[in-house]
Amino acid sequence: MQLDAKTVLDNPGKRFGFLITGIPVSDEFPYEFRFTKDVKAEGEYWSEDEKIFVSMHIEFSLEETCAKCLKPLEYSSVTESEVVFSQSDEDEEYYLTDGMTVMLDKAVLDEISLNQPMQYLCKEDCKGLCPICGQDLNEGTCDCDTSLSRINPFEKLKDLF
Ligand SMILES: [Zn+2]
Ligand SMILES: [Zn+2]
Repeated sequence: MQLDAKTVLDNPGKRFGFLITGIPVSDEFPYEFRFTKDVKAEGEYWSEDEKIFVSMHIEFSLEETCAKCLKPLEYSSVTESEVVFSQSDEDEEYYLTDGMTVMLDKAVLDEISLNQPMQYLCKEDCKGLCPICGQDLNEGTCDCDTSLSRINPFEKLKDLF
């Protein structure tokens, strides 16, 4: 996923629109995302003081696993972000560009990783699995006595002190 850096650097202040789709890859800091379709990045970019500013809207879909029932699910989301590319690697807070192309992959992956839920759930009220027999409680109940598993194991210890 890349943009032409030269044109914007040659035209400071002028805004260029873009729409690119693809699967972002970066070996700089590999994220283990399983994309279910191409990521879409749409927005504007421009240059100012030899730096390139990218304002974009990112749409992505990932294959994840429900934290409670362990079923696979698709997580789709959108995020808005503004990132800056510099031609000097002394500017550590910015992404690096060689002045010819803007490689968006790393920035897109970083934005996606910032836009993750605390945990993935197939549905908000997923009942999860029975801790004893593994029955998917969304699909039916089992005869296990789960009251035992709800007792906090430290509760008993408290009596000792
Ligand atoms: Zn679930
Ligand atoms: Zn059970």
